[in-house]
Amino acid sequence: MANAQRPSWLAAGLACRCPQCGKGRLFHGFLTLAPECEACGLDFAFADAGDGPAVFVILFAGFVVVGLALIVEFLYRPPFWLHALLWGPLILLVTLGPLRPFKSILIALQYHHDAAEGRLDRGARADREGRP
Ligand SMILES: [Zn+2]
Repeated sequence: MANAQRPSWLAAGLACRCPQCGKGRLFHGFLTLAPECEACGLDFAFADAGDGPAVFVILFAGFVVVGLALIVEFLYRPPFWLHALLWGPLILLVTLGPLRPFKSILIALQYHHDAAEGRLDRGARADREGRP
C-alpha cells in the first residue's frame, strides 16, 4: 500500500485502527488483538507491545493521582474515607481509559518503524566462529 494512503501512526493509534489502512479494527476484545485487519487483511502477528502500554499508563496515572492526592491533602486535609472515595474511581479512569489507545499507538509505531525482535544472523555468526 502506498504511503500516501497510510494513516499517521498517531491517528491510527488513537482511533485503535489498523496501522496500514486506518479502517479495520485493531482489537477483538478490550485488549485482545484481532488476528488480522478486516479491511486490508494485514496480519497482526507482528504486533507485540509487551508491557509497554502498562508502563506508560502506570507512569501517567501515578503522576496524576498522586499529585492530586497530595494537593488535596495539603490544602484541605480531608478524612481518609474521602481520599478513597475520590481516588479509587479516578485510578480506574486514568488506568483503564488510556490503556487501549496506548497499546494501539505502540503497535502503530511498531508497524511504521518496522520494529521487530532482534535476531542473530546465523550465517555471520558461523563465519565469525569459523564454522561452515
Ligand atoms: Zn488494515
